[in-house]
Amino acid sequence: MKKLSELQDRQIHSLDDVKRGLSSLLNSVKARIEMEKGFGVDAFLATRQNKAVNPALNSPEKHILTETSIATASPGGQTPLNKEQIQLLENLKNEAAGCQKCSLSKTRTNLVFGVGNHKAELMFVGEAPGRDEDLQGEPFVGRAGQLLTKIIEAIGMKRTDVYIANVLKCRPPGNRSPLPDEIALCTSYLTKQIDIIKPKVLCALGTFAAQTLLNTKAPVGTLRGRFHEYQGIPMMVTYHPAYLLRNPNDKVKVWEDIKKVRDFLAGTLPVATTTQPG
Ligand code: SF4
Repeated sequence: MKKLSELQDRQIHSLDDVKRGLSSLLNSVKARIEMEKGFGVDAFLATRQNKAVNPALNSPEKHILTETSIATASPGGQTPLNKEQIQLLENLKNEAAGCQKCSLSKTRTNLVFGVGNHKAELMFVGEAPGRDEDLQGEPFVGRAGQLLTKIIEAIGMKRTDVYIANVLKCRPPGNRSPLPDEIALCTSYLTKQIDIIKPKVLCALGTFAAQTLLNTKAPVGTLRGRFHEYQGIPMMVTYHPAYLLRNPNDKVKVWEDIKKVRDFLAGTLPVATTTQPG
């Protein structure tokens, strides 16, 4: 009798294990489907076929803004723009346009100051302009920019709802990484932008944005996925869209990070920030 009861117990335990395993599998499939619906339908395919480019990203950009459009648009038709903020940003942009603090002023085609809603609750910070951005004078307009647009739309927002800027305002030649002295000389423009816009939440895209705003050398892989704090503003760290183009499997991680930003803005996720990066 005792043996029969032990056998039944073992069966019940293994059934529980199977249920737990199935539930965990279902949750990860659900997360993958959510992410793929949102902004990365080819994550599996791209890896299998060693294809670096998402074909969906070749579609024409729908939400590239011009300074004129952002100055006149009322995002979502709801939030009136603040004239004082617009003026302050315009003054700062003019100041940066004449900036010759570092050698990038000599090689840039255009200053890439920032774009978006001056009253944005969500502000993205990237690294530096690339070739397309340098030519057009706007941040995130190349393939990485198109992916950022999809990420923004995946959380139910539009590019016109957010503000987007980089740490550096001029393109490093050949898209090389920003140098420490260039970052040191340029960062004041970014910090003033943040101060004028006063977003509810920041999202640092990639190593340079995260390390600059958090004043740390910790790698993005250890910083991502949780809220930090910049001057009292909660700041999520996640991978840069350009990195995702090379590593499409990590789109799932960015989706997890960006959902936290969405839930924080919706008021359904209390933020426990950490001021100790790393
Ligand atoms: S990168 Fe920044 S500091 Fe260097 S010239 Fe451009 S605006 Fe000035």
